[in-house]
Amino acid sequence: MVEGIGFEPTVESPLQRFSRPPLSTAQPSLHVLHFINLKITIYLSDLLIYQIRLAMSIYYNAFGPYIRNKFKENVYKVNIDAGFTCPNRDGTTGFGGCIYCNNDSFRPTSVLPTLTITNQIENGISYLSKRYSANKFIAYFQPYTNTYADVDTLHRLYSEALAHPQVIGLAIGTRPDTVDAKKIELLSTYTKDYFVLIEYGLQSIYDHTLIHINRGHDYQCFLDALNLTTNKGIHIGAHIIAGFPTEELEQTLAMAEVLSELPINFLKIHQLQVIKETRMADIYNDNPFPIFTYDQYLDFLVNFIEKLSPNIVLQRLFATAPDNILIAPLWDRQRQNIIRDIDKRFKRYATFQGKYYLEGAALKHPQGDSSP
Ligand code: SF4
Repeated sequence: MVEGIGFEPTVESPLQRFSRPPLSTAQPSLHVLHFINLKITIYLSDLLIYQIRLAMSIYYNAFGPYIRNKFKENVYKVNIDAGFTCPNRDGTTGFGGCIYCNNDSFRPTSVLPTLTITNQIENGISYLSKRYSANKFIAYFQPYTNTYADVDTLHRLYSEALAHPQVIGLAIGTRPDTVDAKKIELLSTYTKDYFVLIEYGLQSIYDHTLIHINRGHDYQCFLDALNLTTNKGIHIGAHIIAGFPTEELEQTLAMAEVLSELPINFLKIHQLQVIKETRMADIYNDNPFPIFTYDQYLDFLVNFIEKLSPNIVLQRLFATAPDNILIAPLWDRQRQNIIRDIDKRFKRYATFQGKYYLEGAALKHPQGDSSP
């Protein structure tokens, strides 16, 4: 921590001890010192920006303000169920799906796969226009695996969505094992005229967790998909879940540092939820494992975001499955209250996204980065 900046938290978080990167004790050479000075200068200017943001109660890089700034107005997602299935359910990759998965937990009831894409978009736009006076929309292909078809089919479905004059972009939720060079090329062709975001379900960077949840792919598969997608004009998102019983808290927190080094632009993170009619529900009912309490999750989230690159835009910070299918955790909180409590937690610790990422960038491993 640089003296005199005044960013030490006024209250020590219970997880704070996990957040501080180790300082190097090696004797630096002259060019390394120059590099460190440069890094510290960048760090201080970043810190100044974040000091201003802190004063304005902007604690993290949220999707809403990001998209508003980009398009100079609010842009809303219109959910689309294009009738895709999932290779982890139909036997191509596996049977039974991920052990936590019940697609009803994230499919809005207003979306019916029996309607055409055009009808779904018209319905969604009609609703959102009345409610929010919205003008611009992103077509969000959400449930199941939205690249799980041949390129011609994908072209037809995506193009139908983009044909609506008020749709300015695509968001595609998918698995990293269902993309290839041709599908990425297809998405890339849209980027000249549209905002294009692909959201890869990762869930964890730890293969032992991915095996436990029957994910059907490993971490390397995600890295391969990133490789395919990077530098194609496509915005890249990742989706992770915090709180799997296979991970120590420090391991889950460490994902912030790992993901910060990857070419991802957006991140969705939420607490593990045990949902009815899933294999995880059977496991939990037979042998309940620890689940984040509300207070624990708020502390975890603040610690995670402190370690995360400030450049990553946060699309989701928590999940709210419908009460009728949720087994645990039962937080009994409204969405707006959760957002308010997250902000209050950041304020209480006087902290912000990337606080320890910036500190680490300024001070850790300068030798390796300074080579010409
Ligand atoms: S979470 Fe996604 S990938 Fe896993 S089974 Fe459900 S739809 Fe398939």
